[in-house]
Amino acid sequence: IVMATVKGDVHDIGKNIVGVVLGCNGYDVIDLGVMVPADKILDAAQKEQVDIIGLSGLITPSLDEMVHVAKEMKRRGMTQPLMIGGATTSRMHTAVKIAPEYQHGVIHVLDASRSVNTAGQLLNEDLKKPFLQNLYSEYNHLKADFDNKKHAKELLSYTDACSNAAVLSTAYHTPKPARPGLTVFQDYNLNDIRNYIDWGPFFIAWEMKGKFPELLQDEHSGNEARKLFADANALLDKVIAQKWLVAQGVIGFWEAWKTAPDSVQLKDEQGNLLCQLEFLRQQSKKAEGQPNYSLADFIQAGKKDYLGAFAVSIHGIEPHLEAFAKQHDDYNKIMLQALADRLAEAFAELLHSRCRKEYWGYAANEAITPDALIHENYQGIRPAPGYPACPDHTEKYKLFDLLQAGKNAGIQLTESLAMYPAASVCGWYFSHPDSKYFGIGKIQEDQVIDYARRKGMSKDEATKWLSPNMD
Ligand code: SAH
Repeated sequence: IVMATVKGDVHDIGKNIVGVVLGCNGYDVIDLGVMVPADKILDAAQKEQVDIIGLSGLITPSLDEMVHVAKEMKRRGMTQPLMIGGATTSRMHTAVKIAPEYQHGVIHVLDASRSVNTAGQLLNEDLKKPFLQNLYSEYNHLKADFDNKKHAKELLSYTDACSNAAVLSTAYHTPKPARPGLTVFQDYNLNDIRNYIDWGPFFIAWEMKGKFPELLQDEHSGNEARKLFADANALLDKVIAQKWLVAQGVIGFWEAWKTAPDSVQLKDEQGNLLCQLEFLRQQSKKAEGQPNYSLADFIQAGKKDYLGAFAVSIHGIEPHLEAFAKQHDDYNKIMLQALADRLAEAFAELLHSRCRKEYWGYAANEAITPDALIHENYQGIRPAPGYPACPDHTEKYKLFDLLQAGKNAGIQLTESLAMYPAASVCGWYFSHPDSKYFGIGKIQEDQVIDYARRKGMSKDEATKWLSPNMD
C-alpha cells in the first residue's frame, strides 16, 4: 500500500496512525510523507506495483487535489483501488466528487481502525466485488440526494442576507489596544505554554473515543488512556528539559473601519491603510429573529473600531522525528507530532489570554478557571482563516503580511495555504462581547461574484477557493 499526504498539505498524524495500524496487520506500507505531488504518488504506485493507494489531507484545498489524483489514475489506466482519509474528507465528497472520476474503486475510510478491514476486503478476490458493489450503490444514493438537493436549505440572495446582518448591542465601546502594532515572542517559555494544553484533542488525535479527563477512569479504555497520558507527559518533560522545541509567535492590533457589509479596512496609528479584509456571510434562510452572520458584523460600523491577529508556531521537530523514524519508533514519532500540535494550540490560548488582559486589555480583570478557558468562555474570539466562519484560506495572505508571520513566527504557506511547520495556528482577534463562532454554510453565486470583485480575483479563482461552500 502506498500512502501520502497530498500536494500542498502538511498534516500527517492521521496518515501515520493508519500506516502503523496497517503495518501491524501485515501490510507493507510505503509512506511517501507530506506535500506529495500526484505524479510522485502514482509513479511510486506503478513502480512498486502496489495493491492500494491511500491519500490523506486535512485542509479543504486538499479535496480538489484528491479529485486530481483520481483523474490522473484514470488517465494512466491504473486499476488499483484508491482509499481516501483525513479530517475534511467525507463519504459525501468522495461519492459526489472523487468516485465519479475513477472507475476502479474509491473508498472513503473514516478512521484508522477501519482501514484494516477495508484493505482486507479490497485484497480478497471473493470479497472485493460485492464490497465495491455495496459501496457504490450507497454512493449513488448519496449522489442522487445531492443532485436533487434533497437536504439543501433555502438560500437568500446576498443582498437579503446583508439586510439581515447581526445587530450588535450598542453599549460596547472597543478599547484602544494597550500595545498597537506588532509584538513578537521569540522562544516563549514552554513550561508556561504547557499549563494551557487542552488534552481533549490529544486523545482524539490518537483516535481514542471519550471525553477527557473522564476517559482516564473509563472502564474499558481507562488503562490505555492513562498509559498514553503518562507517556505524553514523560516525553513533554524531556522535550522541555532538553529544549527540543522552540515556540515562536507574533500578535498585532490595528484600527478597523467598516467600509461595506463584509469589508473591513485596517489602518495603522498614523491612519495609513494597511489592507482591506473581506468576509463571507451566511446565506441560508434563518428562523424569525435569527441573523445571517458574517464576522464583519462584530466590527462596529460608522466609527473607529479595532481588530487583532496572531500567528504561532512550534519549531524544531524534524531532527527528532527523523531520529525516532531511524529507530523504527512510530509511537514516539506520532507522540511528538501530537504534542507539538498541542503546544501550538496551547500557545494560541495563552497569547489570547494575554491579549485580553494586557496587549489589547479589553478584559484586564478577567479571572476564569482553566476549564472555562478550554471552553473559550471569555469575551472575544480568534477565528482562523480556513475554518467555518471564514472559510477562505486566501485571507491568510493578508494576515501573514500584516504580522510578517514568515519572519516573526517562522511559518511558511504552501500552495494550498497550509502552514508549515504543521504545528502552527493563526487567526483574527475580535473583542466584541457579542462575537461568536459560527459556520458560513452554503453560499450562492451572487455572493461569490461580489466577493471576487472585492478581492480583485477572477470569478473562477474565487469559485475554486470557495467551492467547499458553494451551493
Ligand atoms: N482548545 C482547542 C482549541 C482549538 S479549536 C485545542 O487545543 O485544540 C478552537 C479554535 O478553532 C478556535 O480558537 C478558533 O481559532 C478555531 N475555530 C473554531 N471554530 C471556528 C469557526 N467556526 N470559525 C473560525 N474559526 C474557528
